[in-house]
Amino acid sequence: MVVEYAAFIMKLLLAATLATVALTANAQDLEQLDVDSTVLHAARVLDVAAGKVISPGEILVVGDRIREVGTQVNHPTGAIVVDLGDTTLMPGLIDAHVHLFLHPGAEDLQTVQESVPERVLSAASAAKADLMAGFTAERDMGTEGAGCADVAVRNAIDRGQIPGPHMRVSCNAIDILGGHEDAIGFNPAQHVLSNADYANNAGELVHIMREQHKGGADFTKIYETGPDSLLGDVFTTPFQYTQAELTAAVTEAHRVGSRVAVHCTGEPGASYAVHAGVASIDHAYQLSPETMKLMREKQIYAVPTFTIMEYFAKHPEHPGDAPHYQAELDYHAAEFKKQLAAGVPFALGTDVGPFPHGTQAREFELMVQYGMSPADVLRSDLINGAKLLDWADSIGQLKPGYLADIIAVQGDPLANINAVRHTVFVMKDGEIVRRKAPPKN
Ligand SMILES: [Zn+2]
Repeated sequence: MVVEYAAFIMKLLLAATLATVALTANAQDLEQLDVDSTVLHAARVLDVAAGKVISPGEILVVGDRIREVGTQVNHPTGAIVVDLGDTTLMPGLIDAHVHLFLHPGAEDLQTVQESVPERVLSAASAAKADLMAGFTAERDMGTEGAGCADVAVRNAIDRGQIPGPHMRVSCNAIDILGGHEDAIGFNPAQHVLSNADYANNAGELVHIMREQHKGGADFTKIYETGPDSLLGDVFTTPFQYTQAELTAAVTEAHRVGSRVAVHCTGEPGASYAVHAGVASIDHAYQLSPETMKLMREKQIYAVPTFTIMEYFAKHPEHPGDAPHYQAELDYHAAEFKKQLAAGVPFALGTDVGPFPHGTQAREFELMVQYGMSPADVLRSDLINGAKLLDWADSIGQLKPGYLADIIAVQGDPLANINAVRHTVFVMKDGEIVRRKAPPKN
């Protein structure tokens, strides 16, 4: 990870500086001479694991890392002190399901009408919008036809060339011929390109995964279900890959230390995917009792993505589609309650892209509205999200040694989850990337 390399270089520079100073200073002074220190002070700081806020809240940041967290921390000489007033300090938000390469409007037409270079520039501005809203880490679930262009965006962010969250990227999603994202609805004779990469059997899945791995993908996104049908309260969706095919994909991912995530709205695809050992079931409208039990046992996350469905219900591409989206959302909300009761582990993802980047903190409110406590939503987002992105040892909590990805929000998110929609300060890797003056009382 480039971030780690940068941190290593920073440590070397710091060590060199301190070594020079050590000739004339004692150990106590050394601690005081951290040249790159910032103290953040606010009315509260969130302890996400414990599900409580500490008041007041202070965090000492040295370089790109958190050094101390508490009601009062050391203030090294020369440290910059940032007083954030009546706000809550908390870890940067995580979105486990984004599409930097999509913007509002017809998805299929974006990939037909816009060149990949044009889409890359849009993706860069999407990454900035998400970061400014407080999302400091994201998992991009497919470029929808832009191949591995997401790798370039991730790398540019890591090099500091453009602002954006820490990214896990997947290149294109993988799909069967005639599957969920295969440019359905166009005259086949026009050969409109699929938004995904084709794989029609286990061998082809492994082949595409190796190509994407070579292209720089961090993980694999597979379309496992679609199109969906809801008649009354009967939900059906055809599976795309068999359990054996998904098992081959998961085995290949594990071979290179990677993971598989599936777009999967229901059964039997969900059962195939959890038996195969995927990392997450994204969308997860409908899960059988056996699938829910296995997800709990294997700690496979469901990622509900309620926000996209609410957006489509309110902004349908065709006016007559609104009731259908609302019915699917209502169905999913009812199933979500069953999933909560069954102990299914959750991560928070939004499917942002088809709706405006930077607005996706709405998902926190919807998860609370549909039955999860604010503390559990925050744990799902931050602790489970960090695990799902394979960064559990560096993000998602305010702990000494973790990356200084810290935001400040107005209000107390445990008292009113709405607070996460009011980010006034964003720090990523110890650098302040956004600071908005809090409103006067
Ligand atoms: Zn998606």
